[in-house]
Amino acid sequence: MKANFDLLIRNASIVDGTGAPRYAGDIGIRGDRIARIGDLSGARGEVEIDLKSRIAAPGFIDAHTHDDRLMLSSPDMAPKVSQGITTVIAGNCGISLAPMPRPVPQPVTPPLNLLDEQGDWFAFPTFASYIAALRDKPPATNCPLLVGHTTLRVATVEDLEQPASGAQIEQMRSLVLEALEAGAIGVSTGLFYEPSIAAPTEEVIDICGPLQAFGGVYCTHMRDEADRVIDSLEESFRIGREVGVPVVISHLKVVGEKNKGRSQEALSFIERNMATQPICIDCYPYTAGSTVLSAHRAASSTRVIVSWSKSLPEFAGQDLDAIARKLGVDQEDAIRRLSPAGGFTSGWTRATCSAS
Ligand SMILES: [Zn+2]
Repeated sequence: MKANFDLLIRNASIVDGTGAPRYAGDIGIRGDRIARIGDLSGARGEVEIDLKSRIAAPGFIDAHTHDDRLMLSSPDMAPKVSQGITTVIAGNCGISLAPMPRPVPQPVTPPLNLLDEQGDWFAFPTFASYIAALRDKPPATNCPLLVGHTTLRVATVEDLEQPASGAQIEQMRSLVLEALEAGAIGVSTGLFYEPSIAAPTEEVIDICGPLQAFGGVYCTHMRDEADRVIDSLEESFRIGREVGVPVVISHLKVVGEKNKGRSQEALSFIERNMATQPICIDCYPYTAGSTVLSAHRAASSTRVIVSWSKSLPEFAGQDLDAIARKLGVDQEDAIRRLSPAGGFTSGWTRATCSAS
């Protein structure tokens, strides 16, 4: 008997992604398409899988990633597809691999070194050339891409401790335009990170100018997720309003022991603003984070575990305070000696999200 389907998934508990309650059923697939969902007990598949009531669901979207380089260096995307993730949004927190129209600084300016420590992968002078490389060797996941403001600053601004000049803003703006024309879905900023701290709100508004015409989004790792979280939310919303685009607040949280409980304040502030402009947030379900090590980030955390260190790799996995004691120096000196390095930081108040 000829098989009705190339793949027949039997006895699935189907969670279809529409928000509807899960239901029992079979799924018949022909080629790369779902051909039928329902009671297919009379049908046959070339390949059959009996799920025995396990869940079948559409692929998950990982809304916040730094997979810009991973997609090129490990196109099988095993760390993602093995978790059921089929779409990754890359280029977050102001950090994108492209465009880099001039040689990336050596050592690679943190936090851009999160993508590639050596710098060899910052090889794409335009966003279009980066997308061409992805198309040439497509990764296993779909990949909506953001273009990062910090990358643009490193590529155009001489003194990162200063606001960009008019000419540099013009240059960044044209790189944003090129990225959007090539297919980027929006701009991300990491105003929290050193290379972008000096950027005033107006610089971001100016470089995001081309977004609206492309239906793009503004996505941000905010300037301050601690004492000034409300000011930073307001800055983000102002950028969205002035540029005329939706705002995505990345990994929403309220950092610092003394801010414990202020998630409620942050969430109601967001909710109020949602009434007048499009706003989204994402957050992760744990009270620690992982990023490049720096003195000001360590200072706002109750505990730091060093995850990697270029100069003192033997300290990976150890507590920063313990390392400082061993070295006989203070925390700041320890960070200097470990750098470039990364760390897990904790001491955050979890932002509990409603479904709205
Ligand atoms: Zn971030």
